[in-house]
Amino acid sequence: MSNPEQFPLATQRHSFAHMLAQAVQRFIDPDAQLGTWPAIETWCYYDIAFSDWITFKETDCKALTKSIQRICSEKQTFLVYACDIQEWYTINALTNQQLKNELLDKFQQQGEERISFYLNVVPAAVLEHARETAPWRKEYYTAVTAYFQEQWTIDDQQAIVFLDLCAWPHVASTKEDLDTGWCVVSKLAGAYRQADENNQMMTRIYMDIFANKEELKAYQTILEEAKKRDHRILWEKLKLFTISPLVGAWMPLLQPNWTILRQEIIDYLWELHKERWYQQVWTPHLAKEDLYVTSWHAAKFGDELFRVSWKEENDKFFIKPMNCPHHMQLYADNQFSYRDMPVRYFEPGTVYRDEKKWQLSGLTRVRSITQDDGHLFCRIGQINQEVMSIVTIIKEFYATIGMLDAYRVSLSVRGDDQSKYLWSNEVWDIAEQGLKQAADDAWLPYKTIPWEAAFYGPKLDFMFKDALGREQQLATIQCDFNLPERFDLTYINEQWEKERPVVIHRAISWSIERFMGVMIEHFAGAFPVWLAPVQAIILPVSDSFHDYAETIHAMLSTAWLRVKIDDAAESLNKKIRNAELLKIPYMLILWEKEQTDNTVSVRVYATKEQYTLPSDEFCTQLLEEYTTRSLGKSSDQA
Ligand SMILES: [Zn+2]
Ligand SMILES: [Zn+2]
Repeated sequence: MSNPEQFPLATQRHSFAHMLAQAVQRFIDPDAQLGTWPAIETWCYYDIAFSDWITFKETDCKALTKSIQRICSEKQTFLVYACDIQEWYTINALTNQQLKNELLDKFQQQGEERISFYLNVVPAAVLEHARETAPWRKEYYTAVTAYFQEQWTIDDQQAIVFLDLCAWPHVASTKEDLDTGWCVVSKLAGAYRQADENNQMMTRIYMDIFANKEELKAYQTILEEAKKRDHRILWEKLKLFTISPLVGAWMPLLQPNWTILRQEIIDYLWELHKERWYQQVWTPHLAKEDLYVTSWHAAKFGDELFRVSWKEENDKFFIKPMNCPHHMQLYADNQFSYRDMPVRYFEPGTVYRDEKKWQLSGLTRVRSITQDDGHLFCRIGQINQEVMSIVTIIKEFYATIGMLDAYRVSLSVRGDDQSKYLWSNEVWDIAEQGLKQAADDAWLPYKTIPWEAAFYGPKLDFMFKDALGREQQLATIQCDFNLPERFDLTYINEQWEKERPVVIHRAISWSIERFMGVMIEHFAGAFPVWLAPVQAIILPVSDSFHDYAETIHAMLSTAWLRVKIDDAAESLNKKIRNAELLKIPYMLILWEKEQTDNTVSVRVYATKEQYTLPSDEFCTQLLEEYTTRSLGKSSDQA
C-alpha cells in the first residue's frame, strides 16, 4: 500500500508531525494554537495550546493515533508554495492561529520577506463525508479554501484541510507515501512556549514513527527495558546520591558509591590526557563580572548565571558557568614562545547554571555540573595534530566503556556566506581541513554539515549509542578563534612577533554527571569491575568462617580492591539475593572446604557462573580485570 522508498524516512516522519497537528484541530480542538514541531530520528512532537475548555490526557493518545491514520487515508496531498510574510498574517486571521503571528514577527525582525508554506488538499467530495468531531473547524477550511481559490491556483474540486508554515520537504500523498501502521502517539509533556518560563505552558504531544512492525516491537521492548534501567530508579537501589530540600533541587550530593564512580572516571580521563602532555590546573568557583563580560558569557548565559553579593567592594561576582575564561587567564599570565606551543590544560571543573526548571531532569540536567574540561592553545598549523590526539582519547575512552560499536560524528563547517565568520578564509580552510584530515585518518564515520559551525570556529561532535540504542551526544572538539581575540592572547613566533593562538575546547564525557546518568542506564547499574563501588563481597556461610573472611578481606583490600564482608546473621540465600540486588560483580562464598584449602568459591553476577579458585589467584584475576578496565563478565549490557 505504501511507497516508502520514494521518500526518505525523515521526510515521512516530518510529514506525520503535520498530520498530528491536523488531527488535533479536526478531532479535538478546532481552535488549538500550534507551536513548534521538530521531527527527530524515530519521533516527532508538536507543541499545542489547547482551548481552556479542552483537557487532553495521556489516555486520549490512542484515539488520536486512530484519527491520524484515518486522515492519512483521505489521500491528502502536500502542495508547497511561498508568499510574502504580510500575506500570511491575513491567513492566520482566517484560520485563527494567533500564535503563528509571533513567529512571523520574528522572521520579519530577522529581515525575511518571503516564507514557505504548504497546503494539505483533498478532493472537495472527501471533505463532505469526513467525520470530524470538531466540525466547526470546517468554517476555517471553507474560508481559507475560498481565499486560495481566489488568490491562488486551487480549483473548486479541491478543498484545503490544513495549512502551515514550513520549508521542509514533505511526501506527495498521505495515503501512498505514509505507512500509518507503525505510528503511535506515545506520550505528553509540558513545555513553555518558546522555551520561556514566563510564557504559557503548552502540551507537547510526542509521536513515534517506525519503518516496520519489527521496529515498533523492538521500540516497545526498549521502552520497558528503559523503565527498568531508569537512573532515577537505580540510584535509589544503589544509594548513589541524595537530593536534599535544604541544599536545593537539582544539586545532587554524591554518596560514597557515586564518588567512587566519579573518581574512577576522572582518574581514567586524566590518565588519557597525562600521556598526551596535558597539565592539570585548578580555578576558583567565583569570578568577577568583568571576566564574563570580556568572554561574552555574561551575555550568552544571561539570567542563568548565579550572582553573588560581596560585603564591601562594589564588584559583582558570578559563580562560574564555564571554565574557559579562567583558563584564558592562566594562559595570559605567561609569555609563551612558539617553542612552548601547544599549551594544554586539563581541569575537571564544576560549573553552575541556574537553568530553567523544566529543562532539568534526573541527572542529565542539573544545576551543578562537572565538566571534564580542557583547553589547548596551539598554532594554526598544529590544529590537525592536536585534534588527532583528542580523537584518539575519545576513541580509547569509549572503547573502554563499550560504546564504540555504533557511533557517528558530525563535522560542522562554514556556510557560503563567509562574511559571517571570524578570522580569515585561509585560517578557516586550514582549521576545517585539519578537522577533516583527523576524521579521515582516524576512520571516523562522519558527515560534513555546512552552516553548522559557530561563527568562531568549526567543530566535531560525537554521538554514541548506549546499550539500548539511544543516541547521546557526549564528546566534542571545538576550534575557537574568538576567545583568543577577546582576551588578546599571544605567543612569540620565530620572527619575534606576537601571534594569535587558536583555542581548542574539548570535552570527552560532556559533563561527568550527565555521563554517569548515561552510564548507570547503559550498564543497568551492573558496572564493570573498575567502576563498581563494591567489586567483590565476601559471604561467610557461618560465624565460624569469620576469621577466614577477614583474611581474604585484608588480602584484597591491600591490593586496593573494593571489597566488603556480609556477616549479617542471615541465610546464605538471603545474602546472595542482597548482593545480586546491589549488582556486585563477584560474590565469594566461604565454607569449611574453602577455609581448609585457602580458596574462594566465586559466583559471577553477570553470568551466574560458579567456580572455585585459590584465593591469591582470584586476587590476581580481579586486580587484572580492574587495572585493565576490562568490561569483563561483570556487565550485563543488552
Ligand atoms: Zn513541514
Ligand atoms: Zn571551553
